[in-house]
Amino acid sequence: MALEEYGRKRRFQDTPEPPPKVEKAEGHRFVVQKHHASHLHYDFRLEMEGVLKSWAVPKGPSLDPADKRLAMMVEDHPVSYLLFEGIIPAGNYGAGTVMVWDTGTWEALGNSHEMLAKGDLKFRLDGKKLKGEFVLARMRSRRPGSKGTEWLLIKKRDAGVKEGFDIDEFDWSVLTKRSLDEIAGDEGSAEWQSNRAAAPPPGKNAWLADTLAKVAGKKKSPTTEEKPTKKATAAASRSADGDGNRTTKTAVRSVVRSAKKSSVPSVVKSAVKKKRKKRAS
Ligand code: MN
Repeated sequence: MALEEYGRKRRFQDTPEPPPKVEKAEGHRFVVQKHHASHLHYDFRLEMEGVLKSWAVPKGPSLDPADKRLAMMVEDHPVSYLLFEGIIPAGNYGAGTVMVWDTGTWEALGNSHEMLAKGDLKFRLDGKKLKGEFVLARMRSRRPGSKGTEWLLIKKRDAGVKEGFDIDEFDWSVLTKRSLDEIAGDEGSAEWQSNRAAAPPPGKNAWLADTLAKVAGKKKSPTTEEKPTKKATAAASRSADGDGNRTTKTAVRSVVRSAKKSSVPSVVKSAVKKKRKKRAS
């Protein structure tokens, strides 16, 4: 599949994200990105067919088989997105902070193309945080007008299981060790970018170094600050799905920057909860 939708949603002169480019080589890397856009979520991406097949996972992956995580399939991303960490400036699609929460390799437990088409994708992850077998299962929709993009991400029982897994205890980048708040600070991000260009990680992760250098070479666009209004915050909470919403971008960015450790303003949290409840019923 190509990257038209990815390209259409973004203006590459304004965002540090990589441009759309389908790779010829079929690799088997994966990434989970923690993304504080209009709301906090995680993006789960598997390298397949020259792109990254992508799902937005509101609560993030879990190592506890009891957790069935909703995963909304979103547009394919370019493979070089694997190592994108930094800030998508206000005014851009998905504006906010992105952390490389986990990365590594994946192995299909069967024919990956068939399993994907069938909506029953079984695989094993070998990442720094996520290890073992998982399944991504497409939900049969009960809602009229559903786009059929709802999947569940579930850990299978094996040695990788951690009962009671709490994703908030793992708030660090596997690339830079930074927390989401540290990445969100403009200064830290700029410092990282200028340092990294000269010092890519060694050896084993050569594939990582190449992309890192490219990302580090990019200049960030200047951004403006605005105080979030009540109206804008409410709007942000309404757009709880997907990667963001242009009308709320500036307010959202301010919310992101002013948020403390727990990250999500309570008004957003409760709105998301309500939405989840609705979805569940
Ligand atoms: Mn996202």
